[in-house]
Amino acid sequence: MEVASGVIRIQLPMPFELKHVNVYLLRDGDGYTLVDTGLQTEESRQALTRGLDEVGVPLKRITRILITHIHPDHFGLAGELRERSGAELVIHRLEVALMEPRYAGAEDLVQDVARWLHVNGVPEAEAEFLKSASMAAREFVSVVEPDSLLEGAERLALDGEDIQVVWTPGHSPGHCCFFLPSRRLLLSGDHLLPKISPNIGLHPQSSADPLGDYLLSLDRVARLDVDLVLPAHGDPFSDHTGRIAVIKKHHEERKLTLLGLATSPQTGWELASKLFHGIMERNVFQQRLALQETLAHCQSLADDGRMQKRFTRDRVRWQA
Ligand SMILES: [Zn+2]
Repeated sequence: MEVASGVIRIQLPMPFELKHVNVYLLRDGDGYTLVDTGLQTEESRQALTRGLDEVGVPLKRITRILITHIHPDHFGLAGELRERSGAELVIHRLEVALMEPRYAGAEDLVQDVARWLHVNGVPEAEAEFLKSASMAAREFVSVVEPDSLLEGAERLALDGEDIQVVWTPGHSPGHCCFFLPSRRLLLSGDHLLPKISPNIGLHPQSSADPLGDYLLSLDRVARLDVDLVLPAHGDPFSDHTGRIAVIKKHHEERKLTLLGLATSPQTGWELASKLFHGIMERNVFQQRLALQETLAHCQSLADDGRMQKRFTRDRVRWQA
């Protein structure tokens, strides 16, 4: 479906709570730039092939693949598509460092995560399951060496126009949005979504203050002159500053709730169990996201001087 002039959206299926991811084809002279790739599954591969067939674009005409971040739904098929198309694979350099430990030699990361769960008060029985909760993601993605690395603020040529790279750390340390200033189009990846707020988590592979980074990244995007946002999940939307205001309010409210809960020193796990009611009944993946999200808010509060972070060798506790 053409969502803007020269921009085609292809929706790809996912076997998760979130049912689809959008990838975008941007016309670039005789070729095309693809933004994100979908999961490395047969269903996703077929849906992409069908989507390309419908608009009459053979894979060989994709000359460049831009990746917003390395989560499997965005990056999963990147290696295979690069190989089959010969396209240039472009990604922020901070994402590249996450790839190997997360998707290839994951044993070291599992050790780091186990230690981190302990420090944050997760009981041994739960920690045993939680520590490898994200290993299942590995089947949806292949590690691949990119061709070009971004840092942010680059201008890439597209059909006589510019694509402006907007580095937006938070959801992932090297997350990038891609902005077409002459058309006022923002390809927002997971940074800005119409209905949900992306998971912002403090964990062994995150930056030191992911929520602080995310809020600054929202300001960076708010300053852009945008008419239409093309998100990685959900439909295109306008009024990006309105949406940003809603998301910022949501995080501030969550911070205030945490300040109300942390009247005595508590671990991240204790706070997560109170903040996300019913966390114990959820699957391990959801539990870990809840813990990461809680800790990201605590860390941001502590960095702002609104919460105390009590630190010993084997425990971190938070107090308002
Ligand atoms: Zn993501």
